[in-house]
Amino acid sequence: PLAALNDPSLLKTDALINGEWVAGGSRFTVTDPATGLPLAEVANLGPEAAHHAIMAAHKAWPAWRAKTAKERAAILMKWFHLLHAHADDLARIMTAEQGKPLAEAKGEVGYGASFLEWFAEESKRVYGETIPTTDNNKRYLVIKQPIGVCAAITPWNFPIAMITRKVAPALAAGCPVVIKPAEATPLSALAVAELAQRAGMPAGVLNILTADGANSIEVGKVLCSSDVVRHLSFTGSTEVGRILAAQCAPTVKKLSLELGGNAPFIVFDDADIDSAVEGAMVSKYRNAGQTCVCANRFYVQDGVYDTFVEKLAAKAGALKVGNGFEAGVTTGPLIEDEAVAKVEAHVADALAKGATLVTGGQRLGDRFYTPTVLSHVTADMLCAREETFGPVAPIFRFSTEAEAIEAANATEFGLAAYFYSRDIGRIFRVGEALESGMVGVNTGLISTAEVPFGGVKQSGLGREGSHHGMDDYIEVKYLCLGDI
Ligand code: ADP
Repeated sequence: PLAALNDPSLLKTDALINGEWVAGGSRFTVTDPATGLPLAEVANLGPEAAHHAIMAAHKAWPAWRAKTAKERAAILMKWFHLLHAHADDLARIMTAEQGKPLAEAKGEVGYGASFLEWFAEESKRVYGETIPTTDNNKRYLVIKQPIGVCAAITPWNFPIAMITRKVAPALAAGCPVVIKPAEATPLSALAVAELAQRAGMPAGVLNILTADGANSIEVGKVLCSSDVVRHLSFTGSTEVGRILAAQCAPTVKKLSLELGGNAPFIVFDDADIDSAVEGAMVSKYRNAGQTCVCANRFYVQDGVYDTFVEKLAAKAGALKVGNGFEAGVTTGPLIEDEAVAKVEAHVADALAKGATLVTGGQRLGDRFYTPTVLSHVTADMLCAREETFGPVAPIFRFSTEAEAIEAANATEFGLAAYFYSRDIGRIFRVGEALESGMVGVNTGLISTAEVPFGGVKQSGLGREGSHHGMDDYIEVKYLCLGDI
């Protein structure tokens, strides 16, 4: 699938340290999840290279922070335009290594690029403060400064956007970055890095350490334990987030964590059912159910339960499963064999405990799974507690608003939540009562660069995107001027 790139030089397989492509001593294989075939052999770097990258970033910092915000913004904007100019190739690379349908991949390129534009703009608005004095002999000022070298460890489900969402605010604020992309999707990361080079990113300001699963753990330890690295941003599982937070404790590193979710999707009797079904489709089945904001648990009120199940099953059953490069395919493969095993385990557990299979429930080939709807799901089933991360919609039944809120909040996660209602009072009550960082009301699609993305409870720390997205990369400094 990669033979057809318009610009074959976007296919990079070496890592990027200090503006140079580094082959490393060994390689690891990146495979196409749709076919299982190898795509490329990528540089497999370890702890030593991680130290080099950190030192390169450290050396690049003074010149990068000394640039004016406008100068840094100009480079980010050039990078933004290059992502758009090469959107077709970037999408092909992404579909090849990640599996999502080509149209979805192209959508992600635009979404990923939007963070570069947004933070290029925001970089010019990192305002300080003057505080009215309480002593006529003194003046109080607050200035904002870049935090320092930043590290980012990113997942495979959004191979480009999860990089730009972290890296754009860091760079905009004046911080150099070291990125460790997911081992399943390094080619998208490297292509984006190549475009950063073309945009004029100075050497050492943006470094990419590619590594296989085992080396990722070692590289992670170096990034966390370094006292040069002042901030770590991670998107991935809660389990790995906890490990990284512990590893960062000795150096009291600032952390941004975007971890697992277990999003409830509530449909009240007064909802517009067709709209709710539409929202459920995008929220649940996008990226084959592999997003951290995917609806994971559907709670549907008695009066509309049967209608909702029937309508959702009809639409889910009409999705086309296949290789993301084939026209009309809406559901690509899952990322790896274990992902399919988890989906199968959740479905088997639900069926064993009395759920009904309404549609789907079938593994196709190695990594494909048919979009599935389960009804009569109950709280004792695995899918009620754990994130399935696959194309399965388990539908629970409820009677009262209080019951729905209690069930929705009965999880250690708190990333996204969704609900459908046309009652304005209920919209406020439920919107305020849900324990999550983001709530979609009468919509299943909430992400955009302008809004704060992030979770509460064990779904994470900090917010990405929006004007809040810059905060984690900035230190607030108070200057007290005396002898006035
Ligand atoms: P996912 O559930 O998305 O696969 P993971 O949390 O397993 O998420 O991985 C997300 C990222 O974290 C990847 O880049 C992966 O290489 C990295 N990673 C996984 N385990 C560790 C670890 N122990 N230390 C550092 N990085 C890790």
